[in-house]
Amino acid sequence: MAKHNFFAGPSILPDYTVEETAKALKDFNGTGISLMCMSHRDKSFDAVMNKTVELFKQVLDIPAGYSVIFLGGGASLQFAMVPMNLLRTKAFYLNTGTWANKAEKEAKLFGEVVEVSSKPDNYTYIPKGFQIPTDCDYMHITTNNTIFGTEILEDFNSPIPVVADTSSDIFSRPLDVSKYGLIYGGAQKNLSCAGVTFVIVKDELLGKVDRPIPTMLNYKTHIDGNSMFNTPPVVPIFAAMKTLEWIINEGGVKEMERRAIIKSTKLYEEIDRNKLFKGTVQAGSRSRMSVCFVMNEEYKDLEPKFLDFVKGRDMVGLKGHRSVGGFRASLYNALPEASVDALVQAMQDFEKQN
Ligand SMILES: *Cc1c(COP(=O)(O)O)cnc(C)c1O
Repeated sequence: MAKHNFFAGPSILPDYTVEETAKALKDFNGTGISLMCMSHRDKSFDAVMNKTVELFKQVLDIPAGYSVIFLGGGASLQFAMVPMNLLRTKAFYLNTGTWANKAEKEAKLFGEVVEVSSKPDNYTYIPKGFQIPTDCDYMHITTNNTIFGTEILEDFNSPIPVVADTSSDIFSRPLDVSKYGLIYGGAQKNLSCAGVTFVIVKDELLGKVDRPIPTMLNYKTHIDGNSMFNTPPVVPIFAAMKTLEWIINEGGVKEMERRAIIKSTKLYEEIDRNKLFKGTVQAGSRSRMSVCFVMNEEYKDLEPKFLDFVKGRDMVGLKGHRSVGGFRASLYNALPEASVDALVQAMQDFEKQN
């Protein structure tokens, strides 16, 4: 039986993506050559790259004036590439968790950084009602805080360009891309296998910093080279193309959002109802993708037992991040509603036994 896969990343992908990629690993498009062994300079791979960019633009409805590129180094390399390419004097960071904090640390290497943060309250909410400083080159946000389970579900109307780390909620709702200067993320959560990073960048923001930028770390290099300045991660890009096809076939990001609302609502309702559990995030900031919860104080010692219990029901990946403990259910696009139902059922059955 298939497992209920709640891993945070790498994580569940559509069966279609896995099967099509497995086929291509044996025989890429009937060429008799494995995708792993095919030159990225061959026109058959060119077609994959172009198609992936085209589908990306289609799914997110990306307006003219933006480039889509695929890079190595993970979202973590973007923490440094963003300020290196965009930060002239000062940047504004919304510090909403571990990843935002890491991004901010890199920016400080390149200029002044000001922040608004929910750190004093252990990142249990997304700050609201703050002023976006107009004297900054950009504002950096982390749309979904994969570790703490908060999520920004709106597009900011910002007087300065918005840069967003969307690693763990890309394609889970429509985005108004025109309200962003740059959108990036590691692919291994809602798009593909690990190994590729996507960047959507508004072209007019580039070329404005004075510092020298190493060739490989300059967005322009990869835009000009159609993401093939050097050897791109061919297998993850192929898998991304398949996931994008799947999203379109299923009804697009609006449909992904509809499902995300249904799945997360079901699970939060059970967390709030069940006497054993409680959520860790304040109302109004709860993530649809990363549902974090713990056991109530008086039941705390049952946590390992519950993890064993769900393991016995073919569920994997429910242990909370090592820095926060408790539980985390990642409800990515490819996770079927039936997996959420199975988890809710397990929570109810465990409650009856304890
Ligand atoms: C997983 C994650 C990262 C780190 O991604 P890497 O590709 O491993 O560098 C960064 N930001 C967010 C929001 C994440 O969820």
